[in-house]
Amino acid sequence: MFTGTATDRVFNFSPGPAVLPLPVLEQAQRELVSLPGYGMSVLEMSHRSQGFLDILADTKRLLKELLGIPDTYHVIFLQGGSRLQFSMVPMNLLRGSAQPADYLVTGSWSKYAVAEAQREGAVNVVWDGKSTNYDRLPLAGDLKLNPAAPYVYTCSNETIQGVQFQSEIETGKVPLVCDASSDFIHRPLPIGKYGLLYACAQKNAGPAGVTAVIIRDDLAQRGAENLPGYLHYANHIKEDSLYNTPPTFAIYLMRLVCLWLRDEIGGLAKMHAFNKQKAKILYDVIDASGGFYRGHAQKAFRSLMNVTFRLPSEQLEKEFVKLGEERSLDGLKGHRSVGGIRASIYNAMPLAGVESLAEFMKEFKATRG
Ligand code: PMP
Repeated sequence: MFTGTATDRVFNFSPGPAVLPLPVLEQAQRELVSLPGYGMSVLEMSHRSQGFLDILADTKRLLKELLGIPDTYHVIFLQGGSRLQFSMVPMNLLRGSAQPADYLVTGSWSKYAVAEAQREGAVNVVWDGKSTNYDRLPLAGDLKLNPAAPYVYTCSNETIQGVQFQSEIETGKVPLVCDASSDFIHRPLPIGKYGLLYACAQKNAGPAGVTAVIIRDDLAQRGAENLPGYLHYANHIKEDSLYNTPPTFAIYLMRLVCLWLRDEIGGLAKMHAFNKQKAKILYDVIDASGGFYRGHAQKAFRSLMNVTFRLPSEQLEKEFVKLGEERSLDGLKGHRSVGGIRASIYNAMPLAGVESLAEFMKEFKATRG
């Protein structure tokens, strides 16, 4: 299992941009000035050159291989982050629809997505976790979905609250749309259950600047004719992600991350097992702390990617973050909207980072508890 680290690197628990696999950074460093076989940096390559076309095609192929994406789906690489998808999804799939789209509000990011969708059409919020401060997710029986809705929208992992769906909700014939920004490629996914799935890269898949969209062919054609060109999925599919100049370096790096996942980790099932192992180490410390650490998410909905918890006081939380930094445990402060502590432990967080944080948590409790 990947445990690599370099002595001068901190353990970066930032929610994104986030830690990247060290071998990926090292390869990018080696290749930065001159990509072997091309005599120039990937930063200098035309997006229409054979060199970059090869990189683009290979990144797509690797994602398809890792996730087992069927041929009835397209993979495109866009800019504008996941935020732009909050708008592109309803622009393409909701605009002009006689029926409202069903949205599940499970935390901050799906709430933002609703606000954008409402600019495009009618939205039916079928579930909202507000009453328990977004510490849980709906169970199958909690949902009454509209069988005629143009789509059902979910966020698979709420990065701020640290709640994560353990499996896909059943939507019947209605396309499931998913913001998988903060848990993309962290486990195998039954892509056939999704109509559209998207993820910005800067958590699990690469640097900021590129967003991967996986979209079923029939949905890609739904967008209205009069949409601005960039905002129509079909244009990006037709031009194979070269409708405009794509974020070439970010795509190059995503390819390296995919290769690392395939060749060094051994695929998504292995990655999932490793992610479960890492998360358990931290949740076990929380559960054994006699209430000193209080996890935000209810146990059944705990995220493998973002471990969120509180300490007995804000003063102690401040101290925890500061002392953590002194021990090279970086980025532990919770999101400004909810406070507390958040340890983001994406795919590339080495086991040593999680173990080091667990040790620190135990020590901190022993001296302050
Ligand atoms: N959705 C989720 C689940 C996120 O975590 C984020 C970023 N933290 C976003 C959407 C927004 O992504 P971006 O900043 O790339 O627009």
